[in-house]
Amino acid sequence: MTRVTADIAILGSGFSGSLTALILNRLGFKPVLIDRAAHPRFAIGESSTPIADMILRDLADTYNLPRLRPLSAYGTWQDTYPHLVAGRKRGFSYFHHRVGQSFRPDPDHVNELLVAASSTNELSDTHWLRADVDAFLAGEVRRAGIPFFDNTEVTTLHQGEGWRLAARRDDEPLDFHVAFLIDATGPAGVVPRALGLADHTASFRTHSRALFAHFDGVVRWHDWMAAHEGRIDDHPYYCDDAALHHVLDGAWMWMLRFNNDVVSAGLMLDERRHPLDESIAPEEEWQRWLRRYPSIHEQFDRARLVDPPGALIRTKPLQRRAARAVGRAWALLPYTAGFVDPLHSTGIAHSLYGVERLVALLKQHWQSPSLEAALHRYEQALFRELAFIDKLVAACYASLGAFRLFTASTMLYFAGAITFERQRAGLIDQPPSPDRLFLCAGDAALCRIVDEALVRLSAMDILPTPAQVEAFETFVETAIQPYNTAGLFHPEVPNMYHHTAAPIQTIS
Ligand SMILES: Cc1cc2nc3c(=O)[nH]c(=O)nc-3n(C[C@H](O)[C@H](O)[C@H](O)COP(=O)(O)OP(=O)(O)OC[C@H]3O[C@@H](n4cnc5c(N)ncnc54)[C@H](O)[C@@H]3O)c2cc1C
Repeated sequence: MTRVTADIAILGSGFSGSLTALILNRLGFKPVLIDRAAHPRFAIGESSTPIADMILRDLADTYNLPRLRPLSAYGTWQDTYPHLVAGRKRGFSYFHHRVGQSFRPDPDHVNELLVAASSTNELSDTHWLRADVDAFLAGEVRRAGIPFFDNTEVTTLHQGEGWRLAARRDDEPLDFHVAFLIDATGPAGVVPRALGLADHTASFRTHSRALFAHFDGVVRWHDWMAAHEGRIDDHPYYCDDAALHHVLDGAWMWMLRFNNDVVSAGLMLDERRHPLDESIAPEEEWQRWLRRYPSIHEQFDRARLVDPPGALIRTKPLQRRAARAVGRAWALLPYTAGFVDPLHSTGIAHSLYGVERLVALLKQHWQSPSLEAALHRYEQALFRELAFIDKLVAACYASLGAFRLFTASTMLYFAGAITFERQRAGLIDQPPSPDRLFLCAGDAALCRIVDEALVRLSAMDILPTPAQVEAFETFVETAIQPYNTAGLFHPEVPNMYHHTAAPIQTIS
């Protein structure tokens, strides 16, 4: 039996667990990192945002982790780590399709929305090939001399004075003694399960499930548009260099293209409109969706599934939320505490923001009576943020029936995201802590606007009338005015936004 003693055990070596271990080590703690799998391995959750990049850069600078800094922008990433696969993400691209019809490009872009999040290719955000990025960070953990146990299954957790974890690695029994436990296992939720935490998922309004994989041979949407007289000359960036969304009937599809031309593609289905039918195989369900949308079908005409080997991944509803995110001597990272949906790519940024706050509070309050209250504030913040993300996402699902409605609903997200970015960049006043929440989730006025939007959307039919759509647009445009520093609703070219990024992305 191998006995391991440490200050803090981190369960899960996804990027957030490894990053937490690296920072805690820099802070003088003795961490240990444990994962039941080994790197490299397939993982989903790949599209970063300006906020994610800002936080990653700040963490690298604050905690003297210079080797991580290049990952905060596409240019420096490629210059420094060309072997780590990434994708260029200039912004968010959306294309609206109708069932049974080819996509019809329109000179006024009525069925397109492109929102630039970064101003150049060099400074652009990234899609992370998680197998590569997570393996790189786990390698950094080893490089820093932090004990890292992969292929290790924790079998029992026992809390007394501290924590005692019984585990196995191959046939070797391991016995961990630690003072504090951080759960970064995401959906596996080792601590919530071990403690029998209640499930608060019912508090969410979003009900969606996923069907996804990595493919090669997917036709670029830019090329498809060019071949079909699409007006691509006034796109603010190359539209595939983005989190590209196909907006469908009760569903949407993401496409994230990596620089090896592999594409992460997934369908997100409104579970209430398209409930899971286990009698249909995932591959058949995928093909049925492609057949419904001829232009997307053409994109996938010669596509081949490359990862995970052999099969698409189909999930049950993705929403989950634990009743607690902290307790005596334990804390959950955001993706373990809960998750809403991939729409708006909030996961990586929210996880990084959780890591940033958790390590800072452990540094400040370790072994102090104030730790409990600090953990409680962390939990309150996470849950308010998840609730806000849920509302932003639910508004978009409720808007899938009309693209103008959907566009207006996405503006609620962009208003929160851009304001949060600008606050963080010091361009506008920061609210005092503890109201400095992700995406301005602590801004009472913005929360009221989103609540009001949801009320208005729920009063509409699935196919809203033009008058309802117009009234909703006017409501959102007027309501978000105090947050609208990026000209939302008024681009020079309809639906084409060139300049929403906070001008702070200087990379030294
Ligand atoms: C379909 C889908 C699409 C998404 N798309 C995006 C996106 O485009 N952009 C975005 O920002 N976010 C996205 N997300 C969210 C994103 O996946 C998460 O925010 C991110 O993966 C969180 O990383 P993590 O390191 O906390 O957890 P994970 O990546 O889930 O890592 C968990 C780790 O825990 C380990 N583990 C599991 N069980 C155990 C155990 N019993 N003991 C020890 N270790 C264990 C696993 O092996 C893994 O290494 C998406 C999520 C889903 C479900």
